[in-house]
Amino acid sequence: MIENPLRALFPQFTQANPVVYLDSAATSHKPQSVIDRTTEFYTAENSNVHRSSHQMAAHTTAQFEAVRKQVQQFIGAANSKEIIWTKGTTESINLVAACLTAQQLKPGSELLVSGLEHHANLVPWQQVAQRFSLSLKIMPVDKQGRLELNQALRLINTNTALVAIAQVSNALGNINPIAAIIAKAKTVGALTLVDGAQAVAHLKVNVQDLGCDFYVFSGHKMYGPTGIGVLYGKQTLLESLPPYQFGGEMIEHVSYQHSSFQTLPYKYEAGTPNIAGVMGLGAALNFMHEHRDVIDDIENQLYRYLINGLSQISGLRLWGEVDNSVAVQSFTVEGLSQQDLVILLNQQNIAIRAGHHCAMPLMQTLGIEGTLRVSLACYNTFDEIDYFLQALKSAITQLSTTPMQVKSGAFEP
Ligand code: PMP
Repeated sequence: MIENPLRALFPQFTQANPVVYLDSAATSHKPQSVIDRTTEFYTAENSNVHRSSHQMAAHTTAQFEAVRKQVQQFIGAANSKEIIWTKGTTESINLVAACLTAQQLKPGSELLVSGLEHHANLVPWQQVAQRFSLSLKIMPVDKQGRLELNQALRLINTNTALVAIAQVSNALGNINPIAAIIAKAKTVGALTLVDGAQAVAHLKVNVQDLGCDFYVFSGHKMYGPTGIGVLYGKQTLLESLPPYQFGGEMIEHVSYQHSSFQTLPYKYEAGTPNIAGVMGLGAALNFMHEHRDVIDDIENQLYRYLINGLSQISGLRLWGEVDNSVAVQSFTVEGLSQQDLVILLNQQNIAIRAGHHCAMPLMQTLGIEGTLRVSLACYNTFDEIDYFLQALKSAITQLSTTPMQVKSGAFEP
């Protein structure tokens, strides 16, 4: 077994008695380089972007735009104009949902989402469906939590206006067959949006190879700061859609009665952006670039080790697809409340998540209220997994003999 060379780069773990953090799908910890970069920005650089022509602003603007190019390279986009800053995945999806018009969403057409979606990639489409009187169709999921690919492909037809799907399920960790789905969607002229929130920290992404129209993700799940996210959109498409919000930065010329708007990407960036967040995201991308192979190797080994340990616990059921998954695992324990388990684990200084993971319809499909979810990142260790497995077994034994009386929902978001 390898020692983890990356852990020391995260100040969270140099504190006394650090929490055994197995909740990185909710948000990952940040390496010192990311924290330093945001601090350095506020300490030594702080100025606005694309406004003033003084030296500080010019420096900040250059740094800010350099990170846009880094993101372009990170996801293999053709042009940095196709990279739009947002608050995160949720805002990126809402932006697309708000900007599509009757030209893309013709009356009688259909929206298609998978049965595994986070609410952020479902609820905005419900709203769009209502607004444009469209029907919302769901690509089905089997009782284990796998997308039913053949049925999903059959649902894509000439009426399909848009297909929105997560590359990786946040609730179960499984990797969806998005390449096949995008390819089919293209044959019928449907738009495609990929929610990459749980993918970018674990998988190499190339949006041109995928051929999707939109790809969205958040900085905070890939070692970057909160409050910064990305919308990638194909240039011609973004150019043809209307702006999202209106105000400073996104205009070209304004009179009292009329305004004309900037070209990409600024057309979609009204108001002062999260500049420190962009700088921190740049540092996170550097971190991932520098350590990519080690990150993948550590996560793979840790995940196999976790699955091996969980598989030996009787009464424990694994959900999703262990052979087609990032380092995220959902499970339930027969007859026991996940809330009780998570409370006992919390008492042992272990952070894991219990509940529906913002995917209530998926839980209904699986016939369960929720799961316990362990999500790993490059800073975890085998010792932590051993400690967690031991604590889980003790909690199961304890609850099997003396059930607790805890209000359900106590740990729901
Ligand atoms: N989609 C998926 C698959 C997610 O995991 C999350 C975060 N849990 C989101 C969307 C929403 O991301 P954010 O809260 O950063 O906007």
